[in-house]
Amino acid sequence: MPEIKKILVANRGEIAVRVIRACRDLGLESVAVYSEADREALHVRYADSSYPIGPAPAVESYLCIDKILDVATESGADAIHPGYGFLAESPEFARRCAEAGFIFIGPSPECMALVGDKATAREAAVRAGIPVVPGSPSPVEDATAALEISRELGFPVMLKAAAGGGGKGMRKVDREEDLESSFRSASSEAASAFGDGRVYVEKAIVTPRHIEIQILADTHGNAIHLAERECTLQRRHQKVLEEAPSPVVDDVLRAEMGAAALAVAEASGYTNAGTVEFIVDKEMNYFFIEVNARLQVEHPVTEVLTGVDLVAEQVAIAEGRELALRQEDILFNLRGHAIECRIYAEDPSRNFAPSPGTVEALRLPGGPGIRDDSCLFKGYEVPIHYDPIVGKLIAWGADRPAAIRRMRRALEEYKVRGIATTVPLFLRVLDDPDFIAGQFDTGFLDHLLSRSREAEEKGQGRTEPVSDVPHTSEEIEEVARLAAALHVYLREEERAFQQAPAAGSAWKRAGRFAALENRR
Ligand code: ADP
Repeated sequence: MPEIKKILVANRGEIAVRVIRACRDLGLESVAVYSEADREALHVRYADSSYPIGPAPAVESYLCIDKILDVATESGADAIHPGYGFLAESPEFARRCAEAGFIFIGPSPECMALVGDKATAREAAVRAGIPVVPGSPSPVEDATAALEISRELGFPVMLKAAAGGGGKGMRKVDREEDLESSFRSASSEAASAFGDGRVYVEKAIVTPRHIEIQILADTHGNAIHLAERECTLQRRHQKVLEEAPSPVVDDVLRAEMGAAALAVAEASGYTNAGTVEFIVDKEMNYFFIEVNARLQVEHPVTEVLTGVDLVAEQVAIAEGRELALRQEDILFNLRGHAIECRIYAEDPSRNFAPSPGTVEALRLPGGPGIRDDSCLFKGYEVPIHYDPIVGKLIAWGADRPAAIRRMRRALEEYKVRGIATTVPLFLRVLDDPDFIAGQFDTGFLDHLLSRSREAEEKGQGRTEPVSDVPHTSEEIEEVARLAAALHVYLREEERAFQQAPAAGSAWKRAGRFAALENRR
């Protein structure tokens, strides 16, 4: 059995840090690669050794198979962990790693090619007898064919890129007259994002939930599932907050969906860690949508719920070991409730505009039940070139209300200056009565955001007119005196704010902090 001693992490950011930490925990050596924009990054600091792989643009660095394999050879690594994104789901990368004599920590290239194409993955699910969303059995030729099948299915429909990911090349079409233009834009978006413009049609499930199952499968035919993750809280079809377990899944449904996920895995020859995603309708009917052949961003909620280190399992499976975990052990030992908030360097008050820049001050939350998976540190410069995710905050509680309270407390403790983050957004979500009741669908967040935009616009309409500019020297002197007093007051208030324990409404406190910033 090949023993892994040194792992090259072909990624950056929080996920590279996560994998490097696992290497340390397992007593393995780690090798980081970095672009010019990431010279000072945390993954570079934490790895045992690190190698530059080129300029900032990912196509010239993190997506360059040759450069990564050269580093693997030079560093003496015996395995490569791809993280998520970049080359993680590239069958070509997995194949090239194997050809060059490195263990690729993930599924085989053949399996990755099969499940990476949503249309062939769907066929595998059908073969396994798992319900799929009704739709075209394969990508459609053109807009006319799409229209024909959409009429049969009935509107609304979803147009989805066969090579899709991250919500790209996906369009919900409510009316027949919009189909042709949506088809064209979905296809061209997919062609430019994935180099593959093939699109297929699915019935759009109304007010659905997104629930997915984590699986582990070894190379000896053993496979288990590690329960579900609730990933319904999304913005524009992209997850922003995840939980495990789902507030609406009971033991029976968990067992059923778990078995369905394992059937899809078997039908596609899946090995290593993976996720089988389902869309669930109001009546709790579930339909397969896709397989993610990698470690997911949201994997920590499963780790916290089950106590299993998924990266350690990935390494063991890649070494050819048999799964030591048993299905019953997992299901009997699910503990409490876990929630993850994705921390992005984006400004929720400016329609989620990217907010790259230097982290001027930072205080990360801690205490009981809190896990911080981030790549932030004071002085870190968040580059503009990559995905804006800079961290994930995970809270565990004995039950869902306890996990919500703890997450709220942790978000109140989260202080970062210099860049805007999505922290204030989560404080709002966690205060929402529907969220607290566990009653939401994939449209929840977009509705919440449009409601607050409307409220803001109304508020702005009532703004008082700006007073006249001072003229006389007395007036100017008075203004200067007031400005100086205000400056001292604001400085004191900010100092008090930073020293204050987490008290009062988090939203108010976050708002006050933002107001202080704006008044500067
Ligand atoms: P991607 O791979 O681009 O992320 P997915 O197939 O995983 O695309 O779908 C992403 C999200 O889009 C889902 O979580 C869900 O919110 C929405 N979605 C996908 N398919 C459907 C469908 N048939 N009906 C309703 N919503 C859907």
